[in-house]
Amino acid sequence: MIPPPSLRERALGAYLGLAVGDALGAPVEFMTAQEIRHRHGTLRHMAGGGWLKLKPGQVTDDTQMSLSLGRALIAHGAWDARAAAEQWAAWWRTRPVDIGNTCRRGIVRFINQGTLSGPASEGDGGNGAAMRILPLALATLHDDAGFATAAIEQAHITHHHPLSDAATVALGRMAQCLLRGEGATASRAVADGLIAGHRQFGFEPYPGRASGYIVDTVQTVLHGFYSTANFEDCLVTVVNRGEDADTTGAITGMLAGACYGVAAIPAAWLRKLEARVASEIEMQVDALLALARRGTSLAIGA
Ligand SMILES: [Mg+2]
Repeated sequence: MIPPPSLRERALGAYLGLAVGDALGAPVEFMTAQEIRHRHGTLRHMAGGGWLKLKPGQVTDDTQMSLSLGRALIAHGAWDARAAAEQWAAWWRTRPVDIGNTCRRGIVRFINQGTLSGPASEGDGGNGAAMRILPLALATLHDDAGFATAAIEQAHITHHHPLSDAATVALGRMAQCLLRGEGATASRAVADGLIAGHRQFGFEPYPGRASGYIVDTVQTVLHGFYSTANFEDCLVTVVNRGEDADTTGAITGMLAGACYGVAAIPAAWLRKLEARVASEIEMQVDALLALARRGTSLAIGA
């Protein structure tokens, strides 16, 4: 019998799963499910191309903003909102291949005004804060209160919206349940709690939209994760819905990778993933798990 994945294998699965889901979905971002079928049949390989003209296996902002957040946590040894904003500003200055409008607005506001939060805004209900939550979920794996505070602070640097806040915290807590090996049922209780507080996240029956609006994104991710039983089927289901396929793919890859472990990610997908990204992810997983082991006070911030 194959033993269940270790914490490290789940953590590596979650982080590489995030990057793989991003790279798998990005070439079909903004396409409809029908357009994907017409062009690819069922997309189940690293195609490259798309509106960003990506190389097969190339990641986008979802993975890059997560890596930037991870760098801030590791360099600072704790959660620090300014350190995170500075990392995102440094990333923005590299002229990334893609950046969401709300993320760009928040980063530019930080650069110009030094502010770590904008006012609450109806327009901030996108999925950009949720897509990058994993490094924080890893660093605060055993510190629920520290996680919740920091998750919202990191979100508000670019997105200040109650549904984004609720989803960001819930997705991070779901990842943490799965990383700790508590299983899909425990993670489902977190998802049900999100839906009990905000009925619009209900995903059964699946409402059918996979856009960058946080409600559509969460419904697509949860439906894909809970209606499949392995990493590959889960990711194929989600990215073939198109629309914001890189971000739905990234968030789904995080959950599925945490659940099934790194060995469950198809080798052909991992082989295509940008080598530099994969090696930084490996390094960050060990450093973030070391932060989690160092205890609660470090996660609460300086
Ligand atoms: Mg993206």
